Amino acid sequence: MSGSRNLKIRDIRSKDITNTISVEGEVSTIGEIHPKLKTVAYMCDNCEFVMYLPVEGSKAGKPVHCENEWCGNKSGFTLLEKKSSRIDSQQIWIEELNPIDPINPRSLLVHLEGDLVDTVNVKDKIVVTGVLKAHFKATSTTGDFVIEANSIEKYKEKSLDVDNKTGTDSREVKQVILDIIERLSSSSPSKNASLEDVYQEALKLQIERECAEECVTKLKHHGDLLAPDSKHVKIV
Ligand SMILES: [Zn+2]
Repeated sequence: MSGSRNLKIRDIRSKDITNTISVEGEVSTIGEIHPKLKTVAYMCDNCEFVMYLPVEGSKAGKPVHCENEWCGNKSGFTLLEKKSSRIDSQQIWIEELNPIDPINPRSLLVHLEGDLVDTVNVKDKIVVTGVLKAHFKATSTTGDFVIEANSIEKYKEKSLDVDNKTGTDSREVKQVILDIIERLSSSSPSKNASLEDVYQEALKLQIERECAEECVTKLKHHGDLLAPDSKHVKIV
């Protein structure tokens, strides 16, 4: 959760590559959703051993030798389409907020995968947290920065439009609950937040107890929260 550095789009440099950073911006372009290979499965033609290779960047690897110890086959592998796994992916571009040069705002490419796909709209103001990578086209030595998003936070959700309660979805509730827990635990000497207080605070923001309880259970389940005892939680 923590440990990422806040950077402005215009301040991103090559030395930041491979670091986890948080960047704010306004969504300017949204690309189409594409299936993306996550792992490719190959079967050894000699012994029928099945190997799963991760896809690195845009390259799908091929086995160099059979991973079955007693086989030793170095050529002849069949790609198994059905056993290869795919994930939804999408590219979006964000532009800096309050650009110094409004005619040419700096922009940044963002890669979204899985659950993050299709979660933003053009003009949304968001904070993207993820790993900065460099993308190179086949024949060029000059690349583009791209951030591979792990999470996206919308400003709208953060500022909590209480009047617009109907717009509260589970993602929003989760962020609100996390914010409450963070606030309560930071002001507590034990760094724990009392669940009772969390539910009270949530109620003030029109999140019903049942909904808050369910959300806390989910957060615990995902490992986002630790429970020192049955009445307290803290953020991991
Ligand atoms: Zn083999």
